[in-house]
Amino acid sequence: MGAPSTLPHGSASPGSDPIPAAGVENLVVIGSGPAGYTAALYAARANLSPVVITGFQSGGIPGGQLMTTTHVENYPGFPDGILGPELMDRMKAQALRWGSRLLETDADQVDLSQRPFRILTAEGQTILSQALILATGASANRLGLPQEERFWSRGISACAICDGATPQFRAGQLAVVGGGDSACEEAVYLTKYGSHVHLIVRSDRLRASAAMADRVLANAAISVHWNKELVDVAGQTPDADWLASVTMRDRRSGATEELAVRGLFYAIGHTPNTALLQGQLELDPRGYLVTRPGRPETALEGVFAAGDVADAEWRQGITAAASGCQAALAAERWLTHQGLAVVVPREALDPAPAGEPERTAESDAANYDPEASWQKGSFALRKLYHDSSKPLLVVYTSPSCGPCHVLKPQLKRVLNELGGQAQGVEIDIEAEPQIALQAGVTGTPTVQLFFTKEMQQQWRGVKQRGEFRAAIEALLAAPPQPGGTTP
Ligand code: NDP
Repeated sequence: MGAPSTLPHGSASPGSDPIPAAGVENLVVIGSGPAGYTAALYAARANLSPVVITGFQSGGIPGGQLMTTTHVENYPGFPDGILGPELMDRMKAQALRWGSRLLETDADQVDLSQRPFRILTAEGQTILSQALILATGASANRLGLPQEERFWSRGISACAICDGATPQFRAGQLAVVGGGDSACEEAVYLTKYGSHVHLIVRSDRLRASAAMADRVLANAAISVHWNKELVDVAGQTPDADWLASVTMRDRRSGATEELAVRGLFYAIGHTPNTALLQGQLELDPRGYLVTRPGRPETALEGVFAAGDVADAEWRQGITAAASGCQAALAAERWLTHQGLAVVVPREALDPAPAGEPERTAESDAANYDPEASWQKGSFALRKLYHDSSKPLLVVYTSPSCGPCHVLKPQLKRVLNELGGQAQGVEIDIEAEPQIALQAGVTGTPTVQLFFTKEMQQQWRGVKQRGEFRAAIEALLAAPPQPGGTTP
């Protein structure tokens, strides 16, 4: 086996996208939730120089389900709780600090029929690896209501934590469907924004942990509708473009009832992300990866599973992290036993401290910089909109939005790659709801691209870097005629 990559061990940094050369990797980890990062940490400390394919769009966002959670109160070591995205930032920084290498892309195909295994990424790279840890997690389910597509992102959302702060939901009646920890957490969270929250539960009990359930039942701003299932959603008028009501059916009597709400949030569980592995590894009837009982090994030697992709039962951050540890230790043993492990010596005995993430200060008259590639707040937005002759990326975020957290460094990276030919501004819609309303923002993250005072393009949710870059490059290559729409 040759050197695992063009990048020396220990020199990876977030967003550096090391592209492995023709060599064969010791170990590739697919997935970047608690399972993936813990597996990477252990493998990196074993000097295996693992590559983590973080995932990007398929099956959720990098960092996994904790990126769309607010306070995680049951992860040991954080007595006062920690925000999900912050916990994931810390796990990522720890894995990187010890020499894991990240590829911030999706694994599009996995070929387990030959050794070394082959992984094809969404960006067209083929990676060869002796061992593989599958930590692809699970994705949020949808209900598939007749009018769901029409009102998706127009009142219906799969992430209260991401979208709750959008102006359309403020002071309105809101609904959450589901009875698990996610539904309860979201219902409580939404009371911060809505006038009242309806929790629609299909049975006569909450599946959530007792602590969560108690919080919901004690909250006067939440009404629980027991034994109700959703039948459909509707707008105020047949051609309305925003949700105005949901129809529920009582599962015992069959009677239907309409509830006037401006927002509907799904929290109805998850499906394991195993589509990549169909026909190659054994899956159970619900699609979960089958491993040896209580162990990380799959039926195929050298392939290990960690986290929710193989866990229909516990599905906690801490159990996912623990299974990532087991998978890495098992992979290390297997690689060593097979004589396949190529140990990559560390550059320094003790790696440099991970450090704290940088935060952008809000721009004002004193610190505004017309040439800065990234600024924050409406002062910078107005100045750049009027004065800058460059394409301007405006990203609308909210403080607890995990996907925003993922997207911002990608946008900054695009702007850096473009060497000052375009600029970026971040608007926190919770701090500046009027700006969000004016801009027609219906969820976060939303990105709008302006040039010559006109909006050229808009994206909702996390998208690949290449999309933003291509849109800016197209504008630079063929500037449109000046017009004028206000951001
Ligand atoms: P769960 O699978 O625990 O709960 C899903 C809920 O959705 C259940 O109440 C289920 O009803 C309901 N449901 C499923 N399908 C439908 C449908 N078609 N219509 C209506 N309701 C439906 O998922 P969660 O996302 O809540 O939690 C996943 C895991 O993450 C759990 O282990 C949970 O403990 C953990 N978690 C922990 C948090 C924390 O500690 N801070 C926060 C969020 C999640 P039924 O009960 O009838 O099956």
